Amino acid sequence: MVILLAFPRAGSDRADAMHMNKRAFLKLCSAAMTSRLLSPVLAWAGGDKLMNWAGNVEYSTEKLYTADSEKEVREFVRKQSRLKVLGTRHCFNTIADSRDQFLSLKGMDKVVALDPDTRTVTVEAGMSYGQLCPYLDEKGWALHNLASLPHISIAGACSTATHGSGEKNGNLATAVAGLEMIDAGGDLVKLIAARDAGTLRGAVVGLGAMGAITKVTLNIQPRFMMQQYVYEDLPLSELKEHFDAIETAAYSVSLFTDWQKNRVNEVWLKVRMEDGRRFDAPSEFFGAKRATKNLHPIAELPAENCTEQMGVPGPWHERLPHFRMGFMPSAGKELQSEYFVPREQAVEAILAVERLHQQVAPHLLITEIRTIAADELWMSPCYKRASVTIHFTWKPDWPAVGKLLPVIERELAPFDPRPHWGKLFTIPAAQLRTSYEKLPAFVELSRRFDPRGKFRNEFLNANVFGG
Ligand SMILES: Cc1cc2nc3c(=O)[nH]c(=O)nc-3n(C[C@H](O)[C@H](O)[C@H](O)COP(=O)(O)OP(=O)(O)OC[C@H]3O[C@@H](n4cnc5c(N)ncnc54)[C@H](O)[C@@H]3O)c2cc1C
Repeated sequence: MVILLAFPRAGSDRADAMHMNKRAFLKLCSAAMTSRLLSPVLAWAGGDKLMNWAGNVEYSTEKLYTADSEKEVREFVRKQSRLKVLGTRHCFNTIADSRDQFLSLKGMDKVVALDPDTRTVTVEAGMSYGQLCPYLDEKGWALHNLASLPHISIAGACSTATHGSGEKNGNLATAVAGLEMIDAGGDLVKLIAARDAGTLRGAVVGLGAMGAITKVTLNIQPRFMMQQYVYEDLPLSELKEHFDAIETAAYSVSLFTDWQKNRVNEVWLKVRMEDGRRFDAPSEFFGAKRATKNLHPIAELPAENCTEQMGVPGPWHERLPHFRMGFMPSAGKELQSEYFVPREQAVEAILAVERLHQQVAPHLLITEIRTIAADELWMSPCYKRASVTIHFTWKPDWPAVGKLLPVIERELAPFDPRPHWGKLFTIPAAQLRTSYEKLPAFVELSRRFDPRGKFRNEFLNANVFGG
């Protein structure tokens, strides 16, 4: 049973199933919060219902098969009429849900090959960034960017165009140089950028619709060191006047605001130390003051969960994410939404949301604003569009959030907002179709690998495949 569906549309035949079982939600969240280190995976193994990380989606089946080899994946996929591959279950909507059968590749989490000549690493698809990054770093290599947390699977993150921040940094899927997957017939498909560039651009942000990804090849670069600084209380007027200068001040910039008091609560600057050179962090940054201690993006929460700040030099994988592996990322007890709008309209779009601050603030834990470079991946929200993302970490109150999302989406409508594929939104499918010019090509490509929709689910049918 699904206790929260992400797309409550009036008149839909699913409307009655789209309310949140709040009691179940809160029970799960408070259980997770009692142990800061408790992984939801452990809770689930302990006999609880199969749920997503946040606990707002109870998946529609508990049938889960774990494959440990490509051969097992092929044999299993061949036998199923419908299934979904589960990553680390960090999506907030039902994109990963199945009524029929789940396949987990959690056991397939090894590095297959590190090739210094082509500057690539190939990993099994069950691996998380948290597992890969220390290995890469030890061997002298790095990835170009990371999301706010390292806990997520590489295949799941790339499938939903997960991103970090940085004017020149594409989302995490832009690092993909090759994929291996098992198609609906149980056959192995190998896609290599050098040979299959067009197909790969369609398949990388595959939304789980192309097949079961078994291996991912990522572009790497020599390891680098970073420093992270946090500034507090950036006046909104400074943001309006100097957005470009603020965003280009560091390799990766995140702005956290609760939309109150006309200010950005925290500015996180992640600086690359080129040739070991330190960044000379001013005590003031566009009117914001350099923090004197480590901070959580939600200032009331303990900073022990967060990566080191205060300019302490550290390796790329311990500074690019906001949250540390082994600790609860973010708040835990939350919902998330995020919208991508054109980078050049960043200030107007931010001000549009700011106009809603009185409606937004009571339900919000924190907003994060980031920028991402344009890419060529068909279903990426940054397809041919450098973007600014306006993200909302919500209090876990779906009835209120579900009413607010259409209001925000209306306000952002002039900017053609593209929602994060793994977070909550109510933008109608028809609007998504006009926003993604490559959507018809994506549908055609996925039909090549999966003619009968073995890897599709209600989310994909409603939002991508047209019913
Ligand atoms: C606390 C928190 C912080 C977050 N921070 C960020 C952030 O900074 N930036 C950002 O962009 N997003 C962020 N997210 C969202 C998150 O990155 C995405 O939801 C991402 O998809 C999670 O990966 P997963 O493996 O958990 O995916 P899942 O939810 O398990 O699956 C997502 C999709 O990928 C597919 N999939 C997974 N593995 C495979 C495979 N092997 N083969 C084929 N399909 C597969 C699934 O079928 C599904 O369609 C955050 C989420 C949380 C909970």
